[in-house]
Amino acid sequence: SNSPAPDTSAALAHAGSVPERFTRFDAHPGYQQLIMLRQGAEQLGLKDPFFKVHDGMAGATSVIEGRECLNFASYNYLGYSGDPRVIEAACTAAAHYGTSVSASRVVSGERALHRELEGALACTYGVEDAVVFVSGHATNVSTLGYLLGPKDLILHDEYIHNSAMVGAQLSGAKRMSFAHNDLASLDDLLTRHRLQFERVLIVVEGLYSMDGDIPDLPALIALKKRHQTWLMVDEAHSFGVMGQRGLGLREHFDIAASDVDIWMGTMSKTLSGCGGYIAGCTPLVETLRYFAPGFLYSVGMPAQVAAPSLKVLELMGQEPQRVEHLHAISRYFLERAQALGMDTGHSIGAAVVPVIVGSSPRAAHLSHALYEQGINVQPILYPAVPEKSARLRFFLSCEHTQAQIDQTLDTLAALMAEAS
Ligand code: PMP
Repeated sequence: SNSPAPDTSAALAHAGSVPERFTRFDAHPGYQQLIMLRQGAEQLGLKDPFFKVHDGMAGATSVIEGRECLNFASYNYLGYSGDPRVIEAACTAAAHYGTSVSASRVVSGERALHRELEGALACTYGVEDAVVFVSGHATNVSTLGYLLGPKDLILHDEYIHNSAMVGAQLSGAKRMSFAHNDLASLDDLLTRHRLQFERVLIVVEGLYSMDGDIPDLPALIALKKRHQTWLMVDEAHSFGVMGQRGLGLREHFDIAASDVDIWMGTMSKTLSGCGGYIAGCTPLVETLRYFAPGFLYSVGMPAQVAAPSLKVLELMGQEPQRVEHLHAISRYFLERAQALGMDTGHSIGAAVVPVIVGSSPRAAHLSHALYEQGINVQPILYPAVPEKSARLRFFLSCEHTQAQIDQTLDTLAALMAEAS
């Protein structure tokens, strides 16, 4: 007959000796954790706060699940994501190049637009060159994973983003963390361990997205020079936000670009696209361009993704008032929240302001109650932060108005008074 012989080999190979839980996804620890989280939320009468669907552009307001809400949960810091000039740049680029470059840039995916974007980034930073990856997360994973090895040491702030952590683990380098922004303990670690390693890299963020605070970059530069290490700054959130023209931590502290060895950033926030970049000296960037796996073995950035970021860089140069307004509105939010007795932690009032509310259930409740009143803000719960510092995390943009902030903080203050 034509029917295939029944395959009995798989069923028999290790009969009885492999517990069923090792073959089922619903027995995976991750899935078990998810079930527990959902049960916990259900007991508290809360809806899942994640994966809410936005129906259009996410700016200071956004249509979420069919309702127009005030929105404090997007990284559209300078409001360029919905800007008609930026959208037009995307459309024009797609019409010229098509919607995919259909290969790694090393093979046949290279387009003039890629080099234009990289050139503009290098120019913005005042460094020799830059390289763009299709994902911000992959940028950190690939760069750290490729550059460092088992004889090296990576020292990072305890609050560093997951992508840098994963890259550090991938590298095989020894990894140590220091207490958040605690440069004395970093100095101590370097004094004790520098000479046991070949290359040593310090990794910090330009603006911490859970806390809204920044590192003391001049002090870090002094440290890294004294101990002869490299310094990497992840500007995912600081680019577009810090500095008078939004040029990041370099502008904020008025330091020389070359004092930071590896500038990293993402296109997914201010730059209104998607992907990440590394900016620095030619040998660094060329090495990554030829060898970093997440670049080499991944498709080149699509034109309609690259073009908007290039356009935003140009517009930022012409519209410093957006940054000015973002600074003013962020400070206004911080000061009003503090005046209302809210705990804003260490936030300096630059686009990211947490309101620490003391426990995960309380943060989830407040976020839910605000959402019912048309205000969208993400709760940050344990284990993303310690349980007692669970928070609501507000992202500001230059499109927010004082009236919107008054409305939000008055509503929150009333809810907090009710609940306590
Ligand atoms: N670095 C930091 C500090 C981030 O916050 C993020 C994500 N928000 C990333 C890297 C990853 O960037 P992307 O989301 O663009 O992949």
